Amino acid sequence: MSSAKSHETIQSVLSENRVFDPTADFVARARLDAAKLDALHAAAAKDPVGFWADLAKKELAWQTPFTEALDESNAPNYRWFADGKTNVSVNCLDRHLATRGDKIAIRFEGEKGDTRHYTYKQLYAEVCKLANGLKSLGIRAGDRVVIYMPMVPEAVIAMQACARIGAVHSVVFGGFSATSLKDRIEDAGARLVITADGGHRGGNIVELKKAVDDALAAGAKTIEKVVMLKRTGHEVPFIEGRDLWWHELMAQQADRCDPAWVEAEHPLFLLYTSGSTGKPKGIQHSSAGYLLGATLTCQWVFDLRDDDVFWCTADVGWITGHSYVAYGPLSNGATILMYEGAPTVPDAGRFWKLCQDHGVTIFYTAPTAIRALMKLGDSFPAQYDLSKLRLLGSVGEPINPEAWMWYHRVIGKEKLPIVDTWWQTETGSIMIAPVPGAVPTKPGSCTKPLPGIFADVVDESGEPVKEANAGGYLVIRKPWPSMLRTIWGDNERYIKTYWAQFGNKYYVAGDSAHRDADGYFWIMGRVDDVLNVSGHRLGTMEVESALVAHPRVAEAAVVGRPHEVKGEAVFAFVICKGARPTGAEAEQLAKELRDHVAKQIGAIAKPDDIRFADNLPKTRSGKIMRRLLRSIARGEAITQDTSTLENPAIVDQLAGKA
Ligand code: ATP
Ligand code: MG
Repeated sequence: MSSAKSHETIQSVLSENRVFDPTADFVARARLDAAKLDALHAAAAKDPVGFWADLAKKELAWQTPFTEALDESNAPNYRWFADGKTNVSVNCLDRHLATRGDKIAIRFEGEKGDTRHYTYKQLYAEVCKLANGLKSLGIRAGDRVVIYMPMVPEAVIAMQACARIGAVHSVVFGGFSATSLKDRIEDAGARLVITADGGHRGGNIVELKKAVDDALAAGAKTIEKVVMLKRTGHEVPFIEGRDLWWHELMAQQADRCDPAWVEAEHPLFLLYTSGSTGKPKGIQHSSAGYLLGATLTCQWVFDLRDDDVFWCTADVGWITGHSYVAYGPLSNGATILMYEGAPTVPDAGRFWKLCQDHGVTIFYTAPTAIRALMKLGDSFPAQYDLSKLRLLGSVGEPINPEAWMWYHRVIGKEKLPIVDTWWQTETGSIMIAPVPGAVPTKPGSCTKPLPGIFADVVDESGEPVKEANAGGYLVIRKPWPSMLRTIWGDNERYIKTYWAQFGNKYYVAGDSAHRDADGYFWIMGRVDDVLNVSGHRLGTMEVESALVAHPRVAEAAVVGRPHEVKGEAVFAFVICKGARPTGAEAEQLAKELRDHVAKQIGAIAKPDDIRFADNLPKTRSGKIMRRLLRSIARGEAITQDTSTLENPAIVDQLAGKA
């Protein structure tokens, strides 16, 4: 236990000393070894803007080359490559046709086991047909199109078709309610919705078209047409004059479509962030800068090569599904896998069976999925041949060291690199992550910033926190090409949310972090979630990781509740491996866990309350909804909208009512 720090920093209590070097085999074949990575860092340090300009020329296809790389005249509304013209779909499709036309771009499997695939030529033809279809409906460059679809190849086709004609897409996750959909349509002022009759998940039909009808009945008056893919084939209402079937629209279209050459800064998409209360934030991304980030990080972090099969399990409704399903891999001419369905159908081996059957080489998922699969034991992965896998990734939340170790041991067979990637909807692409052939990993650390990303940890006055393991605010000191450009329709909120805290000088991520003596970054949680226990400011994630390190614990969420003496008390919600303990067993285990936390990180972090449950409240993107848990811990009425939870029924149990 270290001594108390000044109130201006956030205290780190986690100590993790395990280090894993990449294997010699991996390094020998890697795109970047330590020397090449050092050279990139050196180039970026010497001339940050020139570094990106060179990469933008090399990695992207331009119709009109840019002459100025970065325009800072209106900072923090930065503009990159602004007088250049390009088209994102040309970069993702056309430029591969001559060399990789017959290569598979998308492999697809549905929950029931139905499979399809698209070669680059086929994908190109479908995208062109839909692009022509959209034009025939009067959609023009700059118009907003909402995409509300299941996780099928047509979702990517829809995104690429919008990009081809310069329409701005806004993908709304198919699990969101009609009300959330309506709010997002209205905020974006969209003219068109692309949807499906329904989707498949967990053996059920997700009623997508019904949600669209409800959203449009309740408002969303800017919508003129609804294009509907037939996916489930169940009966849905069809409103003449407004609704069109995807296949009927496509049937009439030519399979060539000249791209719209747009300015580099032309908005490619809006994406509303996942967890916020209040008015949704429409994060606006650019065309060229965004694509550059998505393209390069596939090479740097995923070591993506021509013979890979890349499976990012994220839905296209999240930023991860934008950058690492729809854009980054295709820009690199890679083969991706898409899966529509739950990870546990027909059983908890489904992900591993998919990896085996499709020859997946790179697997990228979220800690929530890793912890859920870990809870179900080692026997499921053991049933499948995972020998093609060569790289594993994680994103979305801090990964607890013990979950990392399980991933390493059971899925990675103790030899695959794990890339823990820190980034956000706002950053567009991965910011802090190991380059797998060059950077040794430590369980629970996202390691070091990528070349050209000037990440830092600062205290409340904006000064860098130099002391090892002392926490502070995670900031980015210089603009980068894939950064968000603004919040749609609310630039003031953009400046206030991300820049104002330190006088518009740095991008403020809203996460707390610390660096260890090797300069490795450790994300400690959201700034809003920091606990203040007897004057010590603690990140939630570290206490959670200490709990998960106990052999009985699968998952934990920690929040604060007011305490007369300490200011805040630590309240832990705990999910056990196996059955939920009750009665005397629960009391005994709670005591054991308190002692365990005290031993692991010190008495200061010892939970005052421990409540066992079968599950935690998760957002639809799988993150623990701590705000809701905070209300429960404080005994407050729950005012949050629980309809957007993955598992709303769990709330009563967490509140101690069931
Ligand atoms: P909202 O901003 O609406 O609350 P959100 O922040 O959950 O939604 P995302 O942009 O998808 O939406 O998530 C980014 C956040 O996820 C980061 O700010 C961080 O808190 C967390 N995160 C993502 N990847 C990692 C990681 N590898 N390690 C730690 N935290 C991560
Ligand atoms: Mg966020």
